[in-house]
Amino acid sequence: MATARVPVCPDCDGTLKAGVMALCQREDDGKLTCRMVWGCANQHVWWHWADRPEGPLEPCPYPDLLDD
Ligand SMILES: [Zn+2]
Repeated sequence: MATARVPVCPDCDGTLKAGVMALCQREDDGKLTCRMVWGCANQHVWWHWADRPEGPLEPCPYPDLLDD
């Protein structure tokens, strides 16, 4: 039951690879919060709030955050 969810790319269903964490100010609550960056093999880059693992992936406007 406790299987870890492997995130997939919403665009191409490719497996996402974890990238860096980025510290951002969240508009919801004004808190500085880490965002986890994810990328697939097709250069799609997403991120989500690290403290909201069930939250939706959002398009990341900083593809440079992904190494390759
Ligand atoms: Zn993709």
